[in-house]
Amino acid sequence: MKIYENFSLKDYNTFGVDVAARYFAAVSSTDELIGVLESVRQKGNLDIKPLFLGGGSNILFTKDYEGLVIHLILKGISEEAVSENEVLVTAAAGENWHSFVLFCLEQGYGGLENLSLIPGNVGTSPMQNIGAYGVEIKDVCEKCTVLNLETLKTETFDSAECKFGYRDSIFKNEGKGKYVILDVTFRLTMKNHVIRIEYGAIKSELERQNITDPTIRDVSDAVISIRQSKLPDPKLLGNAGSFFKNPTISKSAFEALQQKFPEIPGYAAGQWVKVPAGWLIEQCGWKGKEIGNVASHHLQALVIVNKTGQAGGAEIFEFSQKIIDSVEDKFGITLEREVNII
Ligand SMILES: Cc1cc2nc3c(=O)[nH]c(=O)nc-3n(C[C@H](O)[C@H](O)[C@H](O)COP(=O)(O)OP(=O)(O)OC[C@H]3O[C@@H](n4cnc5c(N)ncnc54)[C@H](O)[C@@H]3O)c2cc1C
Repeated sequence: MKIYENFSLKDYNTFGVDVAARYFAAVSSTDELIGVLESVRQKGNLDIKPLFLGGGSNILFTKDYEGLVIHLILKGISEEAVSENEVLVTAAAGENWHSFVLFCLEQGYGGLENLSLIPGNVGTSPMQNIGAYGVEIKDVCEKCTVLNLETLKTETFDSAECKFGYRDSIFKNEGKGKYVILDVTFRLTMKNHVIRIEYGAIKSELERQNITDPTIRDVSDAVISIRQSKLPDPKLLGNAGSFFKNPTISKSAFEALQQKFPEIPGYAAGQWVKVPAGWLIEQCGWKGKEIGNVASHHLQALVIVNKTGQAGGAEIFEFSQKIIDSVEDKFGITLEREVNII
């Protein structure tokens, strides 16, 4: 396996930011990965920890990376029926997420259809517990196999051990920088599928298509159609999807905001209230606003785009900071970035 020097990452991040990695290697097996990590240790000349890269759709490089970027391209899918209705499907980290969802649909396996067309790779899906249209990875994840970066031995994390939360998991907290996810196993249905169409515009999209008794494939098609109509395609306009998380605030804070902004939307989340970040950003006048090479998307204020294709990562970061500041000024809420900043 080749280790490249001063390697351009422009095609490896969906923002299309033109930065370079001091060293870059693509690994297609666990043995190759261990080999690279051991050689880094032996040389001892890379003082910055290796950075693992999947599809590059949840990352913002603000500068060149002065270390080793390891692109995970491990492939393979295996299946094991565990009952008349359930199957465990394991996919390697480097499998493209949407291709994997389509593979499952072709086999007639249900559970992932609401997560159609999310960019990125399977191995990254547990990192931030990807979610869309009322389903999150936590609902279908059975376990992950990881490589412990200290011992270079594999370990298994079951779903509970992954400590999934809203766009969150152990891999973003106490496990940060300690593990690489090698594969993920999903528990899917073969017959008695649970059709989830209440969330978002799925129901109205199915009605528009005159579908009254939807299959898992119909749900996937509806999700694809909705996503294509409102989210920019990173191949055409650089972006990383939602740049910020939806903030959760206390009920009393929400009620206080309702006094000032009666139309503020909020969704109960246990003892908290989740407020759509896109709404807050839009109220501050950011929807469609451009500064230099960067803009907030004209259809979805939550998505920051590399408008000209020439934006640097630092410029995108500064733009995001301006959004955070104005939302804080107006609503007293501090937005948290969903995208990983490097
Ligand atoms: C248009 C668009 C729409 C999107 N819509 C959604 C959505 O609906 N819901 C949603 O949840 N997300 C969404 N996203 C965000 C993104 O698709 C997901 O977060 C996805 O899981 C990122 O996968 P990736 O392989 O591209 O991650 P990368 O950007 O390659 O990596 C993200 C982080 O994980 C680390 N990492 C990567 N692979 C591994 C691994 N195997 N083990 C350990 N660490 C690793 C990286 O170092 C980095 O810190 C969207 C993005 C775009 C561009």
